[in-house]
Amino acid sequence: AADESAAESPASAPEPEPWVEVVTAGRFAGKTVIVTGAGSGIGRATASRIAREGGRVVAVDISRERLDAFAAELPEAEIVPVAGDITDDAAIAAIVAAAGPRIDGLANIAGIMDNMTPVHEVSDAIWDRVFSINVTGTMKLMRAVIPAMLAQASGSIVNTASEAALRGSAAGVAYTASKHAVAGITKSSAFMYGPSGIRVNAVAPGPTITNIEASFGSALGAERVQLAMTILPDAAEADALAASITFLLSDDGVNVNGVILPSDGGWSVA
Ligand code: NAD
Repeated sequence: AADESAAESPASAPEPEPWVEVVTAGRFAGKTVIVTGAGSGIGRATASRIAREGGRVVAVDISRERLDAFAAELPEAEIVPVAGDITDDAAIAAIVAAAGPRIDGLANIAGIMDNMTPVHEVSDAIWDRVFSINVTGTMKLMRAVIPAMLAQASGSIVNTASEAALRGSAAGVAYTASKHAVAGITKSSAFMYGPSGIRVNAVAPGPTITNIEASFGSALGAERVQLAMTILPDAAEADALAASITFLLSDDGVNVNGVILPSDGGWSVA
């Protein structure tokens, strides 16, 4: 009877379900994947998903505390935490050594925002810091893992661009330029390594609820995400980005190479 009255009255129709994560069992079984930024936000959600889909995850973050908290959440999973700064060559060597001889995937997710400054206000310090992490760190990890991928004639790399890689952005000039550079690294590498069986793609997240603004003391946080132009009803959580990244990273993305995939609820077409 309750069902009948619900059918008669559109006003009492149930609320649409929020996005529900669907984990693909065993999609990463037998695979070793390096995930940077695994201590927070999109990196953490991606590392978690790969581990829950059976992968061995080399989880990298500058914050050991965040990595330990992440690993403690999944005691059954195969997670190798490596605390280190992706701009540091010794840390890069430790990450690759922890992965072992076979490296199936690399998810370059660690990144920082800038302090939203335009060109005439940006300092050398901000410019250099944003580029060293977002661009040089991304390149260094790719440079370190590609020899193993060439030797095994397979591999999948996913970099993290941004909607700020697709067009001019209200984010500062350093961040926007850095994400355009990530897109360039991605496209040229897809072209160069595709014939060797290595796919290189990037995800371009729209506003996503994470901790990214903390490093520059912005208090906007979730409010920024809610205020941003969006087509879908719900603001993106990190898990929704993890779904896009693991699609590209896994064999589900077998025919996708050199793409900068917007995962932004349609923001890039609005
Ligand atoms: P986040 O701050 O929640 O997580 C980033 C993680 O990277 C942190 O745990 C941090 O400790 C780690 N990290 C920072 N610098 C590092 C370094 N030098 N070495 C190792 N680890 C380091 O941020 P997030 O939003 O999850 O961001 C992940 C990626 O997504 C970034 O590349 C970011 O530019 C991109 N992105 C985010 C949004 C968004 O709205 N959140 C939008 C577009 C793109």
